[in-house]
Amino acid sequence: MFENLSERLGGVFDRLTKAGALSEDDVKTALREVRTALLEADVSLPVARDFIKAVQKKATGASVTKSVTPGQQVVKIVHDELVTFLAGEGEPGKLKVDNPPAPILMVGLQGSGKTTTTAKLAKRLKEREGKRVLMASLDVNRPAAMEQLAILGQQIGVDTLPIVKGEDPVTIAKRAKTQAAMGGYDVYLLDTAGRLHIDQELIAQAAAVRDVANPRETLLVVDGLTGQDAVNVATEFDDKIGVTGVVLTRMDGDGRGGAALSMRAVTGKPIKFVGLGEKTDALEEFHPERVAGRILG
Ligand code: GDP
Repeated sequence: MFENLSERLGGVFDRLTKAGALSEDDVKTALREVRTALLEADVSLPVARDFIKAVQKKATGASVTKSVTPGQQVVKIVHDELVTFLAGEGEPGKLKVDNPPAPILMVGLQGSGKTTTTAKLAKRLKEREGKRVLMASLDVNRPAAMEQLAILGQQIGVDTLPIVKGEDPVTIAKRAKTQAAMGGYDVYLLDTAGRLHIDQELIAQAAAVRDVANPRETLLVVDGLTGQDAVNVATEFDDKIGVTGVVLTRMDGDGRGGAALSMRAVTGKPIKFVGLGEKTDALEEFHPERVAGRILG
């Protein structure tokens, strides 16, 4: 998911580590190239600028340029700064699902991969954490979306709340809560309706559901291929509804990775998972350390 960026940075750092002695100007030149590479990966300009500033502060002191392996020192500083940039609070991939039944609210735009991700998460909670999971679709405007979740539920062996025609999302959320409690479920996932754009109705509906469900986690699903747009969508959702974490989908595509790099710095929200395909097991925890390692090769 970061192939281009990784390749570009690899080139810059190769030259740096092979150079032996380094002047402050050499470091500055290299960091300018890093900045260009970040911008090409669709990292937003303020984020790229802040990142370089933070690295520069640590990398231009005499302790680096006068060290025996100045190039490697710079690479290490970039690596550590990347981890800081990417890291959020809490353990990666861990969701707050104690105190059963724990509600998880799934929000996002239509087509972002929300329903697929709901099923992926349910499967993961069931298989890896041994949780009893219930899923409910609140997308009353799109019966096909409700059926899609029911079909996915059958595929992964996770129960879905029976569909009752004519119910509004808040009523469904309440029914899910009752069913989850009565049925002895550990977690219930509420798959809210998505729309093509963030509009009043979408926000009002998600907020009303949030208020009755009182979710332990509100996960925003965004399409990682949309780059900076994904970050803008996250900012808006967080302002209006409040999210606890982000799932970036389609990171198996030819995305340049910018959304993953900017998300935390811009929104303050951690990326908890990335979607890496259409199948229900194509979900990976987002580990800042591993991602930084992958980017720097
Ligand atoms: P929703 O409208 O947000 O609920 O979106 P869906 O879950 O229906 O997903 C829309 C399309 O994106 C479907 O064809 C999914 O199979 C596909 N999709 C979802 N997540 C991923 C992902 O991580 N990678 C890829 N390649 N496709 C995905």
